[in-house]
Amino acid sequence: MPNSSNNYKSGELCDQPGRYQCLDCQWAEMESTIEVKLGVIFPYCKSCPPPHDATWHLLSGKAA
Ligand SMILES: [Zn+2]
Repeated sequence: MPNSSNNYKSGELCDQPGRYQCLDCQWAEMESTIEVKLGVIFPYCKSCPPPHDATWHLLSGKAA
């Protein structure tokens, strides 16, 4: 089931491949984007302060 908000936390399973942006970094006015493939666990954000827990927001999905 797709996440209706298109937001995922570090450690969650990706069910929508595409480009994601770290919301915490966005709020801090930093750019942090990653490409995530289907079935991959969302990583921590290197740009976020420790413990690097991130909320990833889908920017552009490859699959509808
Ligand atoms: Zn971040």
